[in-house]
Amino acid sequence: MFNKVLIANRGDVALRVLRACQDLGIATVAVHSTADTDAMHVRLADESVCIGEPASAKSYLNIPALITAATITGADAIHPGVGFLSENADFANVVDAHGLTFIGPHIDHIVSMGDKVEAKRTAAASGLPLVPGSDGAIASLDEAKMAAEQTGYPVLIKAASGGGGRGMKVAESAEQISEAYSSARSEAKAAFGDDTVYLERYLGNPRHIEVQIVADSQGNVVHLGERECSVQRRHQKLLEEAPSPVLTDKERQHIGKIAADAARAMGYLGLGTMEFLYENGEFFFIEMNTRLQVEHPITEAITGIDLVVEQIRIAAGMPLSFSQEDVTFKGHAIECRINAEHPTSFMPTPGTVENFHAPGGPGVRVDSFLYSGYRIPPHYDSLIAKLIVHGDTREHCLARLRRALDETIIAPMPTSLDLHRLLVNDPQIRSGDYSIRWLEETFLPNLDQE
Ligand code: ADP
Repeated sequence: MFNKVLIANRGDVALRVLRACQDLGIATVAVHSTADTDAMHVRLADESVCIGEPASAKSYLNIPALITAATITGADAIHPGVGFLSENADFANVVDAHGLTFIGPHIDHIVSMGDKVEAKRTAAASGLPLVPGSDGAIASLDEAKMAAEQTGYPVLIKAASGGGGRGMKVAESAEQISEAYSSARSEAKAAFGDDTVYLERYLGNPRHIEVQIVADSQGNVVHLGERECSVQRRHQKLLEEAPSPVLTDKERQHIGKIAADAARAMGYLGLGTMEFLYENGEFFFIEMNTRLQVEHPITEAITGIDLVVEQIRIAAGMPLSFSQEDVTFKGHAIECRINAEHPTSFMPTPGTVENFHAPGGPGVRVDSFLYSGYRIPPHYDSLIAKLIVHGDTREHCLARLRRALDETIIAPMPTSLDLHRLLVNDPQIRSGDYSIRWLEETFLPNLDQE
């Protein structure tokens, strides 16, 4: 096992990793920018190193500064967290070259899954069902037109290097293909420095359902069930639940098994998430994330497994501490992402938190770095807290979520707490009857009219 882990991240995920290390008896090194000197992860780590200026490019994405921090503190492994360098193969390579362990998958899987065209090819070869579309990247407008005709409109042009929902454009018909093709390419170029795009059928009303898998270096692969992540705005998840309110046990076993079989076929290592769209009883693979996910705590809630502890153990060469037969799903869990942003205009609301009160009681978990007097810096992701609630049934979970949301205070800035308070009482959330379009096309427009 490692003696000391450097956590190359900030915010709630840095705290999450820190807590897992502490539970394992591993010493921790926090890194921080000059904007994060007073951050909770810095206060709670055994040691901390300032790695640069507030802009992420000068601190949390600064590979030489991170490696130097690990070297001078004598860390033997680096956990990249979520976001920042967590899916950056160059970083994983440099970590490796310095004789440190990158707590994550094999580098070739970061590379193959980081390119979505390559990911789809690997997924298909590993037996996963794909969204119908172009055979690989499309190199010209003519190819785009041809692929769209073959696939059938509406189609979606997507960036091969995409992430965070950027570089995606819909063409409803042949008249829109030229515009969608060129704007997806220029957006992809601007966001990722790569204008490679591919094409998929644009599914009408799917749900986003993803499967958590975990694989050790001995070849054991286990799936930990699914997460329903269809409550999205601009392709960003806002509320997630496990299990999905619509899957039957048979479908759950089926998708879990094919995801685990695919990971086994790839020789995958560590934590991974296979994301699918689900429509009319069919699953379509869209991408694989080769890291911890923001919404991992709902899986922890229903399985009782600490995913980060497991991830660290696997990176240290240890076998999984459970088999597929040992995994049982208990009750229902929901996670609300609480962002420092206006609940309905979604404008960021950084600033000083004068009053923070976390909810408590049975079934309630809060992963947050907030404290009263903390100043939320304007430089980073707006996620400030994750509220995770677990109950015996979905109904029970929703009742507890309502209670927990009512207890929570984050003041004075507006946050997405108020949006979640509306969501938890909405008839469609309560019945589980929603798709990836519901929030933007039904819920938010109805709010505006009130
Ligand atoms: P990113 O890496 O940018 O998050 P994904 O491929 O995971 O991109 O897609 C993000 C979201 O975009 C999905 O959760 C879904 O809401 C939507 N989406 C992606 N592909 C399709 C498709 N073929 N049809 C309809 N919606 C899609």
